[in-house]
Amino acid sequence: MQSVEAAAKAVAARIERLAVERVPLADARSRVLADDIQAARALPIFDNSAMDGYAARSAELPATLPVVGMVAAGQVMAEPVPPGVAIRILTGAPMPVGLDTVVIQEDAKVDGHNVTLPASPVGDNVRRAGEDIMPGEVAVTGGTRLFAGELGLLAALGLVEVSVVKAPRVALTTTGDELVDHATTPLPGQIVDSSAHMLGSMVKALGGEPSYFGIAKDDPISLAAMIASAFDHDAIIRTGGVSVGDRDHARSALTAAGVELELWKVAMKPGKPFSFGMNGRVPVFGLPGNPVSSFVVFELFVRPALLQMGGAKVTQRPRVPVQLVRGYRKPAGRAHYIRARVVRNGAHLIAHPHPKQGSAMLSWVMGCSAVVELPADAT
Ligand code: AMP
Ligand code: MG
Repeated sequence: MQSVEAAAKAVAARIERLAVERVPLADARSRVLADDIQAARALPIFDNSAMDGYAARSAELPATLPVVGMVAAGQVMAEPVPPGVAIRILTGAPMPVGLDTVVIQEDAKVDGHNVTLPASPVGDNVRRAGEDIMPGEVAVTGGTRLFAGELGLLAALGLVEVSVVKAPRVALTTTGDELVDHATTPLPGQIVDSSAHMLGSMVKALGGEPSYFGIAKDDPISLAAMIASAFDHDAIIRTGGVSVGDRDHARSALTAAGVELELWKVAMKPGKPFSFGMNGRVPVFGLPGNPVSSFVVFELFVRPALLQMGGAKVTQRPRVPVQLVRGYRKPAGRAHYIRARVVRNGAHLIAHPHPKQGSAMLSWVMGCSAVVELPADAT
């Protein structure tokens, strides 16, 4: 049985980045930028006023000066300004040629056509061309997922289209004779397939496109056929049928479908029956049937792999040390993953484990904010 760390490495080693496509900036939200974007222009493009006030020459201040003109945002004062005058200026307006400081209007005393301005250092209240970004500087690095801030920056730089890594198209199938779709009222003995929805939404959250292939029966031939029919996708996630029950045919079905198995069982709880294999370039993830086990295995192995496939630089969730309250007994051997509510207490983060830790129980989702990892060798 592999350790969690060895399993994660084995998966990462096989994942290849997908191809690149051009998309309009308007469609680029949550996509991963393929390559560094260098600024083709300075930001701001020209020196402009940061405030409403009066533009003047710092060296002439303090002084009472005639106000000989006005420039608002969007206007340009073409003529250089002669010495000994001030210009009324509004926020965002280009600095008139020759002037180097802006006194905010609250500090100016206006008397008819004259204004009295206090001393003001060169560059005060002036936004310098290029002070944000210089032409040629890397504005957004490749591998960054684009969200509001990045999209705003790229728009300011005039990008209409960007190169992003293709979104992983992920086939999703669950397995079990007992499973019924969530829209069906279960008959005695039937269990509602909750994992399809849960995992589909986890795929979407990382920028992937899930397609649901339905529920496979516990029969190796139809399971193999369903797996094989999904090889035109970038990745396959299938759940269930991987323990050692009489009806667990996943292993033979995977082999029959031409999947080369690299991992079969990982030293973790929940989630031990995790399998991973490849068919050519297509990774096939086998998740345990129990929904909590699928959730944890997805978080630990599938999410990082799909992010890596999608070109993202950051593939791991943030991790912080926490203090676990309440006793928890665990033998050495497997890493344990406990769902918990984490609260701050001064400098410490305190993890309160949810009382319902059963791997088939879903009610923990209310109030839990973290999965707590207890390392394999911890007791
Ligand atoms: P298995 O891995 O097939 O042995 O399934 C383990 C347990 O998880 C069994 O109780 C199954 O009924 C249950 N289970 C399997 N697949 C799902 C699913 N998609 N949604 C909810 N429960 C499931
Ligand atoms: Mg089963």
